Amino acid sequence: PFDVLVVGGGPAGASAAIYAARKGIRTGIIAERFGGQVMDTLGIENFIGTKYTEGPKLAASLEEHVKEYNVDIMNLQRAKRLEKKDLIAIVLENGAILRSKTVILSTGARWRNIGVPGESEFKNKGVAYCPHCDGPLFAGKDVAVIGGGNSGIEAAIDLAGIVKHVTVIEFAPELKADSVLQNRLNSLPNVTVIKNAQTKEITGTDKVNGITYMDRDTQEEHHVELQGVFVQIGLVPNTDWLEGTVERTRMGEIIVDQHGATSVPGVYAAGDCTNSPYKQIIISMGSGATAALGAFDYLIRN
Ligand code: FAD
Repeated sequence: PFDVLVVGGGPAGASAAIYAARKGIRTGIIAERFGGQVMDTLGIENFIGTKYTEGPKLAASLEEHVKEYNVDIMNLQRAKRLEKKDLIAIVLENGAILRSKTVILSTGARWRNIGVPGESEFKNKGVAYCPHCDGPLFAGKDVAVIGGGNSGIEAAIDLAGIVKHVTVIEFAPELKADSVLQNRLNSLPNVTVIKNAQTKEITGTDKVNGITYMDRDTQEEHHVELQGVFVQIGLVPNTDWLEGTVERTRMGEIIVDQHGATSVPGVYAAGDCTNSPYKQIIISMGSGATAALGAFDYLIRN
């Protein structure tokens, strides 16, 4: 059996695998797609110590770094079940069963899509999901934020300091964000909030040029010209397969303590699949290191 088996090959998993392997213990990593969300990212400007890199380049160097160590890499494999007996078993989609003394879950998350025409066509051509990452690309331009929950309103406040104008589009008749955030939003001069509005389409030619929404009261359609749309209707953690095992939040995020430990002894978790409040590459890597050190501590005590 493995000492540490990492499930997920994004920044959190790569970091966990390297930290575990450096302890000289038997380490494996399973990834459906090595690199994770980083593979879908173009420019990265906030990976501290590196002024600029691109997703596929960072993913390749993560893999290269993991390969420096004695880590069993099982790429293109999907975990479908976790079972806790004496050891922890990870059952793969292909039927194989891997056993380990500890497991680190780092299966990441995905942005919830709005699913209207134009969204997938204009991804990275004006449709964006991460204001911390892509906000500066829209400096001086007009953008919309879809979603009036905490993440949408935080995004709108953040963007208002960078872009020319922000239009917030909320489906419900009221914003759902905390009132401190709403108050802050209302104090900004370059933000318009449209409530009770259903997004119908993101329009464009080679890149985004506007958004069409329907006023749910009057059923009338309106079009706003702008250059960017941030979809902020939530993040979905890739944790469905853990149903009935580790404790998760209502949103499906794995609950971890300061050591990265979950509710199941010997099972640790890191990165975007956890209840970490912020989701970024550097944060995932830090929590991957924490989880590996947590798992190592567990091994020497058990
Ligand atoms: P992920 O990167 O999601 O990796 C999850 C891994 O688990 C993948 O290898 C996946 O294949 C695997 N996996 C999932 N389910 C299973 C399963 N059942 N079995 C086996 N493997 C599985 N952050 C920044 O800091 N700066 C940026 O500029 C930036 N830009 C971004 C742009 C975009 C378009 C996106 C989508 C995200 C961006 N982020 C950025 C966020 C950043 O990519 C994430 O915070 C980070 O990748 C999270 O790392 P992770 O390892 O926790 O998860």
